[in-house]
Amino acid sequence: MFRAASRSLRATKYRPKRLVELARMFSASAIRTEGLRLSSLDTFTEEENMFRDSVKRFAVDVVGPKVREMDEKESMDPTIIQGLFEQGLMGIETSADHGGAEASFVSAIIAIEELAKIDPSVSVMCDVHNTLVNTILRKYGTKEQQDKWLPLLSESKLGSFCLSEPVSGSDAFALQTRAKKDGDHWVINGSKMWITNSHEAEIFLIFANVDPSKGYKGITCFIATKDMGVQIAKKEEKLGIRASSTCTLNFDDLRIPAENIIGGEGKGYKLAIEILNEGRSYSMSTL
Ligand SMILES: Cc1cc2nc3c(=O)[nH]c(=O)nc-3n(C[C@H](O)[C@H](O)[C@H](O)COP(=O)(O)OP(=O)(O)OC[C@H]3O[C@@H](n4cnc5c(N)ncnc54)[C@H](O)[C@@H]3O)c2cc1C
Repeated sequence: MFRAASRSLRATKYRPKRLVELARMFSASAIRTEGLRLSSLDTFTEEENMFRDSVKRFAVDVVGPKVREMDEKESMDPTIIQGLFEQGLMGIETSADHGGAEASFVSAIIAIEELAKIDPSVSVMCDVHNTLVNTILRKYGTKEQQDKWLPLLSESKLGSFCLSEPVSGSDAFALQTRAKKDGDHWVINGSKMWITNSHEAEIFLIFANVDPSKGYKGITCFIATKDMGVQIAKKEEKLGIRASSTCTLNFDDLRIPAENIIGGEGKGYKLAIEILNEGRSYSMSTL
């Protein structure tokens, strides 16, 4: 099956309209891990090498000319965000049914590596969106949640992962943000700090404690949109990756529909640990 796919690739001169179409041919990566050939972090399939070349071209031709200006202005050019969506780089591992590229973990690492070579601010944006926000929904979202949110995240809406707070960085589970049930909604109050993408994002994964008496077992993950009332406060001035936004967020009686809990009540700590462990591999690609 894999050989047949490779032969057909070689036989046709492949001209992708956008990277997503190329990435969808990555079925080879999945088959590869099923026993035909062992996956390695420095041995790539023909398709992966083609994908790397395409991301590299996008990074050099489209991102490259904007790097200096974006860094000086400490601001991400909206056309870069739009370009990442158009190229299919904002739903790399998301299924094609949900508008994604349905590509492998290795493909996502390749994309982040190639973007980081030109502008780490762009790669961090792509990384957080794909590996934290999309992955949480792919792994822990219900079918209804995936059908609703993943197409938006693949095609047009930037996502943000909101865990850290002024008094809870490494000790994330000491977070103080609270959520209280009110009929068929949850009401969130609190603040987050150092939140990547938050200046441009429209979709937010917010970790809040629904029952502090249970300690970290009260931590729950909610999904919210900016127009529900997420307040973007101070934007940090950084020494590096300056075009990537890092902001303080405030929630002042932020009302979120009850069905917007991801992974179940009290499951936020488990979900955050698992995602951050996997996310570290991607973060290393930026470095
Ligand atoms: C550019 C940037 C982007 C970020 N983006 C996001 C984001 O998108 N979402 C989000 O939720 N957060 C984000 N963060 C927050 C980041 O996750 C935290 O900065 C990180 O968790 C560390 O927390 P802290 O800064 O409070 O450091 P602290 O927790 O105060 O740690 C300071 C130092 O003490 C060490 N230390 C801490 N506790 C212990 C211990 N028990 N034993 C030994 N050593 C210890 C740490 O290793 C570290 O070296 C971002 C931060 C930055 C700088």
